[in-house]
Amino acid sequence: MSWIKFLGTGGARFVVIKQLRASGGLWLNLSDTNIFIDPGPGALLRCLSSKPKLNPADLDGIILTHRHIDHSNDINIMIEAMTNGGFKKKGVVFAPKDALEKDPVILYHVRNQVDKIEILREKGSYTLGNISFSTPVRHVHGVETYGLNIQGENSTISLITDTRYFDGLESHYDGDIIIINVVRLEEKEGIDHLSLKDAEKILSANKPKLGILTHFGMTMLKAKPWELADKLSKKLNIKVIAARDGMTINLDTV
Ligand SMILES: [Zn+2]
Repeated sequence: MSWIKFLGTGGARFVVIKQLRASGGLWLNLSDTNIFIDPGPGALLRCLSSKPKLNPADLDGIILTHRHIDHSNDINIMIEAMTNGGFKKKGVVFAPKDALEKDPVILYHVRNQVDKIEILREKGSYTLGNISFSTPVRHVHGVETYGLNIQGENSTISLITDTRYFDGLESHYDGDIIIINVVRLEEKEGIDHLSLKDAEKILSANKPKLGILTHFGMTMLKAKPWELADKLSKKLNIKVIAARDGMTINLDTV
């Protein structure tokens, strides 16, 4: 069975610093390859307290979509945990260049613990074990940021991480499952995040088999994301759900 587990569904600073939702990122298991995506604050804790427990030593790699702290905070400890405290050199870390350069979020001393660090680039294609994925376009998000199209055995998964909406965004992410980081309920000038309206635009253009809203900021949380997802489902006539902390999606049945 292939699956994806949400170890966090909170986004942006206030939801994260108050931990109104967890912020541990996503664990993806695809045909027995395990990749962790965006290990934000609490990623390690959420793995170990997960039921059943997720063992970071089983990971084959880690993807960082961008360097913001709600996505990257636990990356160093997750690298340590993946590599048995640095004693078992293994795994690949994928990250944008600016996560590794000035004021790097990936510490120099843990870089030697992994087999390889691969730099994410616009229009890049990457493979790790049974997983291949691409980073079709650079997002508009202050720091270097890439979303993912992940090729599964029977389905493709698009993960639209943080970005401001830009023309044609939806044309880059046409997965069977589309996961969207929806931080804001309403659009706001000068904010580099997607709003609910942007998510609706993307889902109605691409009509995935399943749309998943996640990475909620305060305005989304207050508006009850599960009700908003329900309304979207009915309006667009596609299945849309709001992610919950600890939720697992069986990718074989989507
Ligand atoms: Zn961000």
